[in-house]
Amino acid sequence: MIKVVKFGGTSLASAKQFEKVLKIIQKDEGRTLVVPSAPGRRTPNDRKVTDMLYNCHALALSGQGFAEELSNIKSRFDDIISGLGLHLSLDEEFEKIKNKLDECGDSDYTASRGEYLNGLILAAYLEFPFLDAKDLVIFNDNKELEVDETNHRLKEALRRNQKAVIPGFYGAKRNGEIVTFSRGGSDITGSLIAKAVNADMYENWTDVSGFLIADPAVVNNPKSIDVLTYRELRELSYMGAGVLHEASIFPVRKEGIPINIRNTNSPDDKGTLIVESTCRQPRFTITGIAGKRDFASITIEKAMMNSEIGFCKRVLEVFEDNHISIEHMPSGIDTMTIFVHKDEFEENEQKVIAGIHRAVSPDMVELESDLALVAVVGRGMKSTRGTSGRIFSALAHANVNVKMIDQGSSELNIIIGVRNNDFETAIRAIYDIFVSTQI
Ligand code: ASP
Repeated sequence: MIKVVKFGGTSLASAKQFEKVLKIIQKDEGRTLVVPSAPGRRTPNDRKVTDMLYNCHALALSGQGFAEELSNIKSRFDDIISGLGLHLSLDEEFEKIKNKLDECGDSDYTASRGEYLNGLILAAYLEFPFLDAKDLVIFNDNKELEVDETNHRLKEALRRNQKAVIPGFYGAKRNGEIVTFSRGGSDITGSLIAKAVNADMYENWTDVSGFLIADPAVVNNPKSIDVLTYRELRELSYMGAGVLHEASIFPVRKEGIPINIRNTNSPDDKGTLIVESTCRQPRFTITGIAGKRDFASITIEKAMMNSEIGFCKRVLEVFEDNHISIEHMPSGIDTMTIFVHKDEFEENEQKVIAGIHRAVSPDMVELESDLALVAVVGRGMKSTRGTSGRIFSALAHANVNVKMIDQGSSELNIIIGVRNNDFETAIRAIYDIFVSTQI
């Protein structure tokens, strides 16, 4: 049984957390390939080392002194090293980082050092070989991941090393120049490694016991999700449910490798298991609720729109030409509405409206902003009658006006557009009707 284990920033934020990680690894012989993040927050008001590194880089760029910030970062690592009783000096490493900062190069190198240094410490502590991700995770000149080359290099390296610590979040171009993934990208590194070694499981250790049915900032103490399919996860994370980096799903999903989200601070909890498919029915009709605020809608009305061939295409081209991505597109016989992110749209608003007028000569174009989208997701909805009825009566009871309804043809999700200021009420009402009242 090979398990790739990725530990997030809070799991490796202090010596005490490293000790928990050691126990977790020792408990299961399969946990042989370890991917660390940079040290995260130790307390809610603490700073993440990656944020501090980006700050250092910004200070260097603007010509301000970065020495103090760099020394704060070094202290974070030195505290971990001394707390673990290791004999390891990072002086030379910090000298190199300082020199690079003096040259004011790309921020990717500086940002990547959090994972790199935490990886060195973790490898020394676990007594595992350290493999630098710069030789294994390869990007092209446009900073796009070279999937095949990366897979090949990881396979080769991990054939030679059954145990290893490989830092997350970064890789390099073929010329050695460091490139990072987007924030939270250590999840992607773990997933790439799991794919390369055909792992039996990708364990992603964090500070929560898996995915929750709803955002705990909105719903008080929401229940967790035991089993989630990749498709459900995709819908939920697209709509803002955090925990895993969106792009980390694809490598393992293709190979049918399950992901298990686990809690370093509560290692006996089973967490959430993410699988390709399952015959296990979810505990409740719905699996999860997620949502995002700040959308705008553009409603286009034109008599006989339905018989005008190419109408939609011409409208969509206007959005494409203005580099605006479309979120949802409910339509009627003579109307179509397009939901877009407000920030993206605002900049080019007038250009888009003029473009639509030129492209399709509508009878009317109406704009609305301050809209939120709420996605109710669940594989159990398909086999349960009356789900949407229950959602809408719950919303009506909570006095929430529904602006848009979009049910995917897979019946895996129902997306509801509401006003921004009804967002939380809507989520709570849906949670209550499907979860609180069913316990
Ligand atoms: N340390 C990086 C970040 O804070 C990457 C990661 O933790 O996955 O975004």
